[in-house]
Amino acid sequence: MAKPNKRCLILGGTAEARELAARANMLPGLEITTSIAGVTTDPAAPAGAVRTGGFGGVDGLADYLRNRSIDLMVDATHPFAAKISDNAVQAGKRADVGLIIVQRPAWPAERGDDWVHVLTTAEAAAAIKPGARVLITTGHKQVAPFLTRLDVASVIRTIEPLNMQLPANVQNITARPPFDLRQEEELFATQNIDTLVTKNSGGDLGYAKIEAARNLKLRVIMIDRPANAPLPDATSVDAAFEKITQALDLEPISAG
Ligand code: NAP
Repeated sequence: MAKPNKRCLILGGTAEARELAARANMLPGLEITTSIAGVTTDPAAPAGAVRTGGFGGVDGLADYLRNRSIDLMVDATHPFAAKISDNAVQAGKRADVGLIIVQRPAWPAERGDDWVHVLTTAEAAAAIKPGARVLITTGHKQVAPFLTRLDVASVIRTIEPLNMQLPANVQNITARPPFDLRQEEELFATQNIDTLVTKNSGGDLGYAKIEAARNLKLRVIMIDRPANAPLPDATSVDAAFEKITQALDLEPISAG
């Protein structure tokens, strides 16, 4: 009788999740399903099967793991997607399914950076100097505290348009990452930006704005990662891929 395939659920929504799905999907004897939240329209499609939308909390995720006979779960969500990551830890325990947490390292400050460290968007909004011209890149879910700062000029960059009434001092621009250094420097210059507000997402794809801010000597209000997040099992796609093959006792395919 043929050996049944093993099943791996990747919690995605990141470039790392897509890269992992592409690599793991090539492994014989492994079925990959990537789960995405479905918050952006037309998201880049991962290899393998894809499911979209919330599970319904810890209970829903635990049920999904059991009903689909998932052998291994990989949390490759964004470092600031704290709720789904917390749910994954709890649901994995409840359904007795192993969990590999993969998370890119945070960006370190470098010589020439002028960073103010905060922990929340409310603290970030409070840290903007009166009269500043600020680019806000924290995502569409977390703009509310910035809308109360009527004494600054804000440009909020989001992937999807903000579906709300904005005060006259706030402009919403939409664009899909990644952006390169030239594009970021051009945006800062044309909008006359002096302050950047960003989460410390880490990774290469969002780094150009950090580099551009350094080059142009802008003040950066850096929202640091939640201090209580569980430690990752892997900080790169390579390391995560190796952990998957080990955990499921699969033969990695040779590069040759
Ligand atoms: P979150 O606050 O941690 O999660 C909120 C709820 O959304 C979760 O409780 C879950 O609903 C659902 N959800 C989140 N990720 C999911 C996934 N991969 N598959 C199925 N359901 C998911 O998450 P978030 O910060 O809104 O981020 C949403 C997604 O966007 C994540 O997958 C993340 O990787 C991606 N993303 C986030 C950021 C960011 O800055 N936060 C940036 C880039 C990409 P149920 O409880 O109903 O299961």
